[in-house]
Amino acid sequence: MIDLAVLKGSSFVVLGLARSGLATVRALAAAGIECMAWDDNAPSREQAAGMGATLVEPSAIDWSRVSALIISPGIPSRLPTPHPAAVAARAAGRPILCDVELLARAEPKARFVAITGTNGKSTTTALIGHILKEAGMRSEVGGNIGRGALDLAPLGTGGVYVLELSSYQLELLATFRANIAIWLNITPDHIDRHGDMAGYVAAKKNIFACQQSGDCAVIGTDDEPSRAVEREITGRPGITCVPLALDRPVAGGISYRAGMLIDADGYTVDFSDVPTLPGDHNAQNAASAWAACRWLDVPRERIVAGLRSYPGLPHRQERVASVGNVVYVNDSKATNADATARALSSYRGIYWILGGQAKEGGVAPLAAYFDRIRHAFLIGEASDLFAGQLEGKLPYSRCGDLQSALEAAHARAQREAAGPSGGPSVVLLSPACASWDQWKSYEHRGDAFRAMARALPGAQRLGKAA
Ligand code: ADP
Repeated sequence: MIDLAVLKGSSFVVLGLARSGLATVRALAAAGIECMAWDDNAPSREQAAGMGATLVEPSAIDWSRVSALIISPGIPSRLPTPHPAAVAARAAGRPILCDVELLARAEPKARFVAITGTNGKSTTTALIGHILKEAGMRSEVGGNIGRGALDLAPLGTGGVYVLELSSYQLELLATFRANIAIWLNITPDHIDRHGDMAGYVAAKKNIFACQQSGDCAVIGTDDEPSRAVEREITGRPGITCVPLALDRPVAGGISYRAGMLIDADGYTVDFSDVPTLPGDHNAQNAASAWAACRWLDVPRERIVAGLRSYPGLPHRQERVASVGNVVYVNDSKATNADATARALSSYRGIYWILGGQAKEGGVAPLAAYFDRIRHAFLIGEASDLFAGQLEGKLPYSRCGDLQSALEAAHARAQREAAGPSGGPSVVLLSPACASWDQWKSYEHRGDAFRAMARALPGAQRLGKAA
């Protein structure tokens, strides 16, 4: 747990008592700092009270006595409708912050690697954390992934915090300085919370706001809004900008494509045989990890070793089992067509399980990948919509639920693997849909798929995830 003694004498309101909120209460209480807390959920409130927080309804807070509001990033503080506590805090001139800001204030001597982007944040964060750990560096991984910022271990001088930061967290920072800021990419998302694309870009750009001379900005340049950000940051005195570019040379930066990267010195890394980093998208993640670790002076061979031993994250193209030369892949995190496109582009000979609660546009944008797919297996609410979109383009079966879909895909894949069209193939759960029609979450859906695939007759277990 982070020692918040530096904040002694302050008084905080913690609003939202899930993972990061409770960690904040725990750390404040441990440091003997006054902490009022609230959440609409009674059991969470009880937990916070048990840790030493005073429970105060937001409308009853005397803001004149409060130093800052620490709000859960999931609770709107501006758009679409600000929480009344945020309105009151702002009216009283109190800052509205998140736990990462408190971590930065408590650990001024540590270094911070911050990662943002519409896609790839968790993978990149986990990958950098893995490389640093394998290289023997004192580091902690958290933020929007895994443990809350204030649950991490104190590191002090020489330690490195590797933090995944969402746009929601980034707009709740005031003095947080990223020694290395990684911006992967940006496409329209979370517009309800940021008003428009410009608002979303502005929130994410906060990752660079407090950088100082000697810091490093790693920026993916494969979409126009990101290129504009790169042009802006390159002009800042004292900041070293490392651009990343797909399949094209880029001055002072890293060029990458699936399984390969070439750094600014022309040093080439081939990781095409690393099964946990498939596709161009993961090459972007690997390139940014390379840039960050080089900046931290991790020797090249250590970074290569870390890339090679990266275990992957659950639910993101996670190889869970194999039967003969058919691999079963859990990509339950792919809840929209864009994410599913990344998985489809990574394999051939695909038996594709998809469906759930459809997003706008369905699977129509995925037509460019249909030649990679042998058969589609539809589940959940989206079955009618997707059947219409696949009709005449791709053979499909309606399977109803995940268990039936997996059994049908397995039977067909094994039959065809033994036939003339044999060769390696993939049974891929990449639903392009939210899970809520049949599951509690994408994790719940992916955990079920993993268990089902590992229970198939003759299945060999792959991967480390539980
Ligand atoms: P995030 O934490 O930003 O949601 P993840 O690392 O969890 O990102 O990856 C989620 C999904 O996004 C992956 O399953 C993959 O489909 C896609 N993805 C991963 N990395 C990238 C990237 N660099 N660019 C585009 N898409 C990506």
